[in-house]
Amino acid sequence: MDKTHEKVWSNCLTIIKDIVEWQHFKTWFEPIKPAALKDKVLTIQVPSQFFYEYLEEHYVNLLAKTLKRELGKEARLEYRIMVDGGNEKNQPLTMDVPGHGYKTYSNNEMDFPLVISNPVKNPFVIPGLKKMQIDSQLNPIYTFDSFIEGDCNRVARRAGKTVAEKPGATSFNPLVIYGGVGLGKTHLAQAIGNEVKRSNPNKVVLYVSSEKFINQFQDHSRNNAINDFIHFYQMIDVLVIDDVQFFNRAEKSQDALFAIFNHLHQSGKQLILTSDKSPKDLEGVQERLLSRFRWGLSADIQVPDYETRIEILEKKMKNDGLEMPREVVKYIAYNIQSNVRELEGALISLLAQSSLNKREIDLELAKKVLRNFVKTSSKEITIETIQKMVCDYFDVPYERLLQKTRKREVVQARQITMYLAKLFTKNSLKTIGEHFGGRDHTTVIHSCQTVKDLMDTDGMFRESVMELQQKVQLAAM
Ligand code: ADP
Ligand code: MG
Repeated sequence: MDKTHEKVWSNCLTIIKDIVEWQHFKTWFEPIKPAALKDKVLTIQVPSQFFYEYLEEHYVNLLAKTLKRELGKEARLEYRIMVDGGNEKNQPLTMDVPGHGYKTYSNNEMDFPLVISNPVKNPFVIPGLKKMQIDSQLNPIYTFDSFIEGDCNRVARRAGKTVAEKPGATSFNPLVIYGGVGLGKTHLAQAIGNEVKRSNPNKVVLYVSSEKFINQFQDHSRNNAINDFIHFYQMIDVLVIDDVQFFNRAEKSQDALFAIFNHLHQSGKQLILTSDKSPKDLEGVQERLLSRFRWGLSADIQVPDYETRIEILEKKMKNDGLEMPREVVKYIAYNIQSNVRELEGALISLLAQSSLNKREIDLELAKKVLRNFVKTSSKEITIETIQKMVCDYFDVPYERLLQKTRKREVVQARQITMYLAKLFTKNSLKTIGEHFGGRDHTTVIHSCQTVKDLMDTDGMFRESVMELQQKVQLAAM
């Protein structure tokens, strides 16, 4: 008449299986092992603390009900949490289930939300870890409102908004935001997180840099706690991983990322990734991961144009309650072209100088400050450097660029070079023309226009120009 713990548990599972979604069942119930049955107390063994927390958070009622069906009103459930693989000396850690999860805990950061008497090694180092209180690690200043839209980021920004409105429920999953340094990838990715948090406070959002993810993973793997690591990440509703290019060569971490990615994606959770390169160009990252990165939408962010740079500066000034003459704003926007971070840097330097010297910001001061700024923070890029880069890229001999040939590849390489020279150097159109075997400024204007038109209509062409643009940008740093 007495049932064994195996029998009781397998009966429970039969019921649970019909109620819980298949994927969840596989994740949260299959790994459970029945451990003991004594006086109507069933002990189940779970792989980790997080596992236990998750069950308590989501399935406490279901578990209690099914168990009562099996064992009667006095039925109780206890957990045996696997603390760490390896040594079998661990005493089972148990707690009573029905009636209370761990929903009421103090706000004390150090108070781990578990009612376990034996001290357990805290398997996770993200500060303030509590299931529903997982700190999202977001910086609240990064919002959509403070992120200026321009041609350079329109697609990415709009896709971001869409994702923020319906996380996990659009085809933009994952959303991959890519582009050069200082162009706003982190800002935009965090803006999505912040927006989700604002409109959906119950969603668990987590922002993590790839470096942190990899470090955490390596710590856990040293402590035989990879399961904890993976289970932790599987609890997230919206996961933002910044700078995934750093996963190159971190093979094992890629495996973990793969498992987490699959789980979240299948459960309709949202992934947002940023990268300095398009997923197709990421080196040292497993193909199976890259192919998943391409499942959703990859949107690039480019160098902002002059008008957008002005808008960004004005927004920053407004946010900081700052005023300066229009001509100064224009001067900065005109001279700092590489990326937004530099633009901000210039603004801050100018501010610092102005308050240090108790002097109004005017054009003269701006010129002085920017001269220093540009000199120390970015290299002057020359037309020749750009010519060499483009020639290398298209495998066109340098002399050909200067000749009058009408061969298509050469013409295109020449036009792109002019376009980039205009974008990245402060040379006049006339000077640029002179560097191409003495062409005049109208040829340069025409070339730049042709490149812009082609970028709008020809995806392959656009990719090439963007790639070159990034190369030049990097060379300018
Ligand atoms: P990335 O992650 O691409 O290197 P960040 O997101 O860190 O770049 O952006 C660098 C700085 O520029 C941040 O302070 C960010 O707020 C600012 N920034 C970038 N793009 C924009 C934009 N479109 N509007 C306003 N600020 C921007
Ligand atoms: Mg960043």
